[in-house]
Amino acid sequence: AEEVGGGDKDVVKEYFNNSGFQRWKKIYGETDDVNRVQRDIRLGHSKTVENVMAMLKDEGSLRGVTVCDAGCGTGSLSIPLAKEGAMVFASDISAAMVAEAENKAKEEVVGGVVPKFEVKDLESLEGKYDTVVCLDVLIHYPQNKADGMIAHLASLAEKRLIISFAPKTFYYDLLKRVGELFPGPSKATRAYLHSEADVETALRRAGWKIRKRGLISTQFYFATLVEAVPA
Ligand code: SAM
Repeated sequence: AEEVGGGDKDVVKEYFNNSGFQRWKKIYGETDDVNRVQRDIRLGHSKTVENVMAMLKDEGSLRGVTVCDAGCGTGSLSIPLAKEGAMVFASDISAAMVAEAENKAKEEVVGGVVPKFEVKDLESLEGKYDTVVCLDVLIHYPQNKADGMIAHLASLAEKRLIISFAPKTFYYDLLKRVGELFPGPSKATRAYLHSEADVETALRRAGWKIRKRGLISTQFYFATLVEAVPA
């Protein structure tokens, strides 16, 4: 069911085209104008990207492998994938994010095929890909929305589906609640945590099973990373 007042998607889109774009472009970039928390999140996120690259390379070369990067942001994953020779189809709900990713890719991808970028929400993605990846996107959606997103992503993937999300454990749930009590000035969107069991159930209903799972955390960044394959 849609939420009252337009729903999360419009809010998320607006955020990632404006203040969220400015904030995350910095965090995902390389410049020094980040504070301690942002630097820590940058480190945690880079670990997630490294882990995904390792997962994807463990079955051999990525040359010619088709990868859908749903919610690609500034291209943190799409660019290294393209450098490895993968055929990357990258999309994001935010036009600002896609423009930034495209500019970076044109500069940085020399020995590979530049990803094909599109401004698109993941619900309207179509086609079939060897691998579908969706990193740190589910945090913007409650579990009832996330279930449908997971099912849709699974329908696009032929061999592998890799998803990361902020885990709903007692400790992190508490942290999040404390954060909500003392919202900082740049906290423009809600953050939703997901239980691994809920994500696993959504995958199972779609006919997929988890093959690998891991937790990536720094002081302020935490993500559960799962790799699923057809059951
Ligand atoms: N996946 C990228 C990464 O790990 O570097 C970006 C993560 S960023 C925290 C979340 C991204 O998801 C933003 O770029 C946002 O615009 C995008 N996003 C949020 N909801 C989306 C949706 N429904 N469809 C596509 N992209 C979405």
